[in-house]
Amino acid sequence: PLVLGIETSCDETGVGIVRGHTLLADAVASSVEEHARFGGVVPEVASRAHLEAMVPTIERACETAGIKLYEVDAVAVTSGPGLAGALLVGVAAAKALALGLGKPLYGVNHLASHVAVDQLEHGPLPEPCVAMLVSGGHSSLLKVSDVTTGVEPLGATIDDAAGEAFDKVARLLGLPFPGGPHVDRAARSGSSVAIDFPRGLTSGRDLERHRFDFSFSGLKTAVARWVEARERSGEPVPVADVAASFQEAVCDVLTRKAVDAAVRHGIDDILIGGGVAANSRLRVLAEERAAAKGIRVRVPRPGLCTDNGAMVAALGSELVARGRRPSALDLPADSSLPVTTVVV
Ligand code: ATP
Ligand code: MG
Ligand code: FE
Repeated sequence: PLVLGIETSCDETGVGIVRGHTLLADAVASSVEEHARFGGVVPEVASRAHLEAMVPTIERACETAGIKLYEVDAVAVTSGPGLAGALLVGVAAAKALALGLGKPLYGVNHLASHVAVDQLEHGPLPEPCVAMLVSGGHSSLLKVSDVTTGVEPLGATIDDAAGEAFDKVARLLGLPFPGGPHVDRAARSGSSVAIDFPRGLTSGRDLERHRFDFSFSGLKTAVARWVEARERSGEPVPVADVAASFQEAVCDVLTRKAVDAAVRHGIDDILIGGGVAANSRLRVLAEERAAAKGIRVRVPRPGLCTDNGAMVAALGSELVARGRRPSALDLPADSSLPVTTVVV
């Protein structure tokens, strides 16, 4: 089937077009630069940017795919979770398209889309798999038995998301927003063992109570204290070493828990998605630790890890292929849609 997917849960206006598992177009307009001076995404600014970008982005996707809108067999859209006002823009556009074209509409879960996107690059999804989704807005471990119906949360962050921690630490180090890629780059010339930063929820009772949960706010505070102490003493802050040691702490916890989840659930595949999956150290460490346990790791290329429309189209395509029921035309935008609801 030819499926068009729309994503507007955060600051990316994404329109993707797929045929089966083949990616035909992935048009993305980001408002990230408009948010940079605020050091984080401003919801009202994001909503307005989606409104302005929506029609041109749909047109660009159709042009790239070399298709006419009337050829589309189904429309899929992110129904949640995400920023309420931002989601509304995508949902309204998708409803209008589906109604106008007389084609089925699927309101889908953003997290399940982050999982489904991998089939565009590596073929049919490994099911069951453990999915680790790490971005600016979420950090979760999921057990996915069927991406169209069975997504079960194993754990999540109890405070900051992994990407949020990267962004906050980047700010402490005077690096631009969004900070992840800058920390990643700075870390390459630093030592990951220079500073022993804390690994949250990895030992004792914390681990027992939060086996597959994450906590990054203590780590962020530890980095802030370390940097402040340095500044007070008048010594220069070794940016590369702080970046590398911080990054190691995040990647150590993420990969340890993902591999442990797979082992404990007897699952042979780990799939990583979300913006932080672009991190170079995370990829290497996950690969290394999983291989030691005979577990495979799949990570889509960075452009498919960050928010985009192709991931929504990929999930939509799978819903059509597996004969799942479409959504009603009055489907809501649900900012706190639970991960267990794949289609609204
Ligand atoms: P959502 O959480 O809804 O998916 P988002 O915009 O926060 O929304 P993404 O666009 O998937 O999520 O990811 C952006 C995040 O990924 C930012 O926090 C950014 O710093 C982080 N990131 C991007 N590249 C890297 C990298 N190489 N290393 C670490 N973090 C990175
Ligand atoms: Mg984003
Ligand atoms: Fe996302």
